[in-house]
Amino acid sequence: MRVILIGPPGAGKGTQATRLAEKHNVPSISTGDLFRARTKDKNDPLGQQIKAIMDAGQLVPNEITVKMISERLDQPDCKNGFILDGFPRSVEQAESLDKMLKEKGIKLDGVIQIGVDDDKLVERISGRFSCGKCGEGYHDKFKKPADPHQCNKCGAKEDPKDPEASIWKRRSDDNEETVRGRLHTYHTQTAPILPYYDAKGVLKVVDGMAAMDDVTRQIEDVLDPKQGAKTLAPPKKFG
Ligand code: ADP
Ligand code: ADP
Ligand code: ZN
Repeated sequence: MRVILIGPPGAGKGTQATRLAEKHNVPSISTGDLFRARTKDKNDPLGQQIKAIMDAGQLVPNEITVKMISERLDQPDCKNGFILDGFPRSVEQAESLDKMLKEKGIKLDGVIQIGVDDDKLVERISGRFSCGKCGEGYHDKFKKPADPHQCNKCGAKEDPKDPEASIWKRRSDDNEETVRGRLHTYHTQTAPILPYYDAKGVLKVVDGMAAMDDVTRQIEDVLDPKQGAKTLAPPKKFG
């Protein structure tokens, strides 16, 4: 399975990429996660340059992004497929990806747009947090851990009396100001890749406003219409 997930910040790309990856036993590759890993070392000048770009809600330059993805796709775990979350994010990146896949002899199975209205995204992003141990994603309102001090997935526990030792992480770019910048970047630079893929006949649209499990079902359905539920209403168009 070789799939691209496209959507604005907070649309649910990471959530759905993780589910698809687990189900189909392929890696989920998030450019955002790869960049965040790079920003951890305070003495790494490139990492710090990337952090400043991310905190401003802008796109990391293509030379860095495209090379990083090309190297990642060459890793042995991508042999049977991959889910791309957050790449490509511009027409130039989509063109580079096409060229790269052609050179590597790889064909995509689908490009899925997860459509969500802008108003909803600020709420999604401001409630987002994840487990610092395993990376499992949560939400203050839409996906609370069963126990507020323990990760459902890996079992990591925190001391409720010591908030300093919290296992939960919130991203520094998940604040309202940066979110507006990221939404602007999405509409001006990323959204033009939708007609690009539509013209190639590979674009599928799902309604990301629905509940998480419903979105998962819609994705399974558009990837394999024979297997999925046929009862869903046709998705509306998102810009
Ligand atoms: P979200 O899940 O909220 O859409 P990501 O984790 O995918 O956010 O991305 C966080 C930031 O990382 C982006 O705002 C951007 O600065 C950078 N980034 C991620 N993917 C790309 C990409 N394909 N090209 C350039 N920059 C990227
Ligand atoms: P993206 O990777 O596109 O930025 P995420 O998958 O990180 O988005 O989702 C953003 C936040 O919204 C997370 O806290 C996640 O738990 C929550 N979320 C994801 N999908 C849905 C959904 N369909 N309904 C409600 N909340 C959702
Ligand atoms: Zn965990």
